[in-house]
Amino acid sequence: MWYPEHVSPPPAARDVDWALRARGLVQGFVRRIVDGALPTSCALCREPVAGDHGLCVPCWRKVRFLERPWCEVTGLPMRLDLGPGVLSAAALADPPPYRRARAAVVYDETAAALVGAFKYADRTDLAPLMVAWMRRVAAEMADVDMVVPVPLHRWRLLSRRFNQAAVLAAGIASHLDRPHRPLVLARRRATARQVGLSRQGRKANIAYAFAVPPRARRALAGRRVLLVDDVLTTGATVEAATRALLRGGARSVDVLVFARVVAGLEGSLYSGSHSPAPPLL
Ligand SMILES: [Zn+2]
Repeated sequence: MWYPEHVSPPPAARDVDWALRARGLVQGFVRRIVDGALPTSCALCREPVAGDHGLCVPCWRKVRFLERPWCEVTGLPMRLDLGPGVLSAAALADPPPYRRARAAVVYDETAAALVGAFKYADRTDLAPLMVAWMRRVAAEMADVDMVVPVPLHRWRLLSRRFNQAAVLAAGIASHLDRPHRPLVLARRRATARQVGLSRQGRKANIAYAFAVPPRARRALAGRRVLLVDDVLTTGATVEAATRALLRGGARSVDVLVFARVVAGLEGSLYSGSHSPAPPLL
């Protein structure tokens, strides 16, 4: 609905307009993802690609895919394979609010280049590739009822044109054949950018940034949610979003991200060449 510049629309009308616009944008991207083919030139260096990896061989070798053994809750790699269902000491000492978290790749220079292009350079053609990698670790999360992206505040959404987490979430929802529910979680207020803040600073900055709108509570009640984001750094964002979903009535929350920071994983571990990951010892 159009309003003259000097007249503010009533809040309710503005919300409805916003919701409709968000839904339209997301549906457009869903179609692009479903119809999208993997890039024919390398997503990183633009060299022609022969196979179906979406990356040339040298770039592909740089990608560090996360593999088991990992902590069943946090998804962080563990040095020893102690069998299925083992939790890390960190998850036992300080249990996160989510049921489990998984990431496709380690957030390093290569992953950062992909995410940066996707996020800030409008490379939506990278989405099918990123979703394909996330699908590898999403298989064990098929028991969820809906897929929800970590929302952007609407002001940032306007400046960035689209919520990259919603694009990834739409692709995962389509793959798992579960509904994509981008309006179940809302950003309550604009938060300062997380970049450059300490862990405590990030936690305080983000703690109350999310909320479940009253109109979404019925859809969420008793449901198992798969929360999707592009990058997990300290975990403060997905933990705050998880707590908001649980407060809003969700039964459980799983977290799936494209890339995550893994401390102490320097070097060539988990190089992506389809060969088994080398042991971490
Ligand atoms: Zn390349």
